[in-house]
Amino acid sequence: MSQTAPTILDFDLTDPIALTQALVRCPSVTPAEGGALALLGAVLNAEGFSVERPVFSEPGMPDIENLYARIGSEGPVFVIAGHTDVVPPGDLAAWTHDPFAAEIVDGTLYGRGACDMKGGLAAMVSAAIRYRRANPDAPGSIAFLVTGDEEGPAVNGTVKLLAWADRRGERFDHCLLGEPTNPAAMSDMIKIGRRGSLTGKLTVHGVQGHVGYPHLAQNPIRGMVRLLAGLEESPLDAGTEHFDPSNLELTTLDVGNPATNVIPAQAKAVFNIRFNDLWTPETLAAEIERRLREAAGNAVRYEISFEPTNAVAFLTQPGRFVAMVADAVEAETGKRPALSTTGGTSDARFIKNYCPVVEYGVVGQTMHQIDEQVATADLVTLERVTHRLLATYFAAAQHA
Ligand SMILES: [Zn+2]
Repeated sequence: MSQTAPTILDFDLTDPIALTQALVRCPSVTPAEGGALALLGAVLNAEGFSVERPVFSEPGMPDIENLYARIGSEGPVFVIAGHTDVVPPGDLAAWTHDPFAAEIVDGTLYGRGACDMKGGLAAMVSAAIRYRRANPDAPGSIAFLVTGDEEGPAVNGTVKLLAWADRRGERFDHCLLGEPTNPAAMSDMIKIGRRGSLTGKLTVHGVQGHVGYPHLAQNPIRGMVRLLAGLEESPLDAGTEHFDPSNLELTTLDVGNPATNVIPAQAKAVFNIRFNDLWTPETLAAEIERRLREAAGNAVRYEISFEPTNAVAFLTQPGRFVAMVADAVEAETGKRPALSTTGGTSDARFIKNYCPVVEYGVVGQTMHQIDEQVATADLVTLERVTHRLLATYFAAAQHA
């Protein structure tokens, strides 16, 4: 447990723009804490939240600081999740604004983490503070689950923080994760699930030899072409109600043969599959192995292996909670957001083991890019959506 450093809070804590600026100015490139969690801890502490700062370790990996905060002692517990770590800024000279200065020009706030996801976290913290100030006797609890290890190996972050909270008897009813889910506008989409990810490595063995004497050799490229055709011959599935069809993408194909008169000994391919809720990594691996066996017959010698994965597909069934989030977005933006399961993986895949989780955040167009930015108007919208959601959620709890 690390001590919360004294932090000077010389801005309005219910102002999501000021709070985003303060967070962006903390250089919290994974695994550095950079003062970001200390700042959040000080803010939440000042508003009556109890704040814990567990540090998790793993041999051979840097220690990671995390934050858990809660106000209220009863259920339901509405948990807001996120991360304060950011990816490196890259070429500093390429930025038009210092990536850790949080400058605002014409309604755009520039900086590393502006959209992914200090802006989202700041807006949700501001909303929670505004809500609790106006409703000090509100039923239930609000909790924050914040990690400093989302952009890194994600080993000493959300997974361990959830288990840590669970051991302490913390129970969560619903979770809002503030990753930047919107492609272009704040009314675009909320994410109600994520696809899973499975990576396969395929090696085809041949017999090396002279191209002029092919009967003495065996070309592995011919076998590889045959296996890959077998893998892609028919779609893995047709998609499901809330998911696109699962998709296999070849990411590399290597023979590494510099000679034009040599038949190579081996060919290697790597592919990644983003899969929907019809599959688990195990059933999908079995299907891939079946397709390869069928394509190979007795003619191709090959090996297939799969990288270990914790990225399973999951869906938060559209119901009362999902509708509540969509209602709040529609009320503040004037448009009903799509319920989406597209994109990469996120920490929601770990949270879903503890409670239903929905993701909604600012526009993510510039995440991880040079000149990462967020529209200050979007921070205000996200603060309002979150505030409305908290008010509806706890009002419903009161009348339940
Ligand atoms: Zn993120």
